[in-house]
Amino acid sequence: MGTWQDLFAAKIADMHLTEPWTLQEDDSLQVHVLKPGWKEFVQRRALGRFRCSQCFHEWSSAKAHILFHMHRHRGQGMVLMRAFRQACRRCPDPQLEEPEFSKETMERLLHNLVLKILKYFYHLPIQPANLLEVVVDAPVAGPHDSTRCEGCQLGICSEPRLAPVVDAREPSMDADKARIHRTLKSRGVSPYATRTHHPSPTNSNFPWKRCCCISSFLLCVLAVLLFVLLYFIQI
Ligand SMILES: [Zn+2]
Ligand SMILES: [Zn+2]
Repeated sequence: MGTWQDLFAAKIADMHLTEPWTLQEDDSLQVHVLKPGWKEFVQRRALGRFRCSQCFHEWSSAKAHILFHMHRHRGQGMVLMRAFRQACRRCPDPQLEEPEFSKETMERLLHNLVLKILKYFYHLPIQPANLLEVVVDAPVAGPHDSTRCEGCQLGICSEPRLAPVVDAREPSMDADKARIHRTLKSRGVSPYATRTHHPSPTNSNFPWKRCCCISSFLLCVLAVLLFVLLYFIQI
C-alpha cells in the first residue's frame, strides 16, 4: 500500500489540497453500502495484472475495478479502497488474487479520485470530461471469465452505468485529444504558415534573378564571340 499512499499524497499536493487526507485498504467495503456522510466512487475497467499464487500464471484484465469510499470530517479526509480480485482460470481450486496496476494507471486512477474529492467535499465544478481514461491501450487476451471475477459476482462488471467515468470515458478522451490537438494546431499553424508563405516568393524570385544574370552573361559572351568571328572573317 506504500505506493498507493505515496501517489495519493502527491496527487493531493498537486491539486493544492492543504487538508490532510489518508488512504487505506479495506476489503470489507461494499458497493452502494455507505455510512451517512460518505461518498462513493467506483473506478471501473482499469487495466490490471494478476498473478496466480498457486501456478504463477499471469494474466491481464481490462475489467479490474476499484471501489473508493470517502469521508471528510473536521478538516480531515479519509478514503477507503477495495480492489476487486480475480481467480486463475488454469487452477481447479484457485484463490482470488489482488490486481496490480502500472504506475501510470495508478496515477490516472488517483487523479480521478482526487477530482471526485474536490467535487464532493470542496464543491469544485468537475466535469465528467476532466476524468482520465484508466484503460491504457494494451492487448488483453481471451474473454472475460465471470465465474472467476469478484466484480462480476458483486454485480460491478455487469452494471452498465454505475460511475460517470464510464459515461465520460470516450468523450473525455476525445475532448482531451481534441483540446490537445487544437492547442498544438493553434501553436503550430502560425509559424508554419508564415514559413510556407515566405519561401514561395523567395523561391520564385530567386531563380528569376539568377536566370536573368546567366542569360545576360551568355548574351554578352555570344556578342563577344560574334564580334571576334566577324572581325576575323573580315580579315
Ligand atoms: Zn493458477
Ligand atoms: Zn467481471
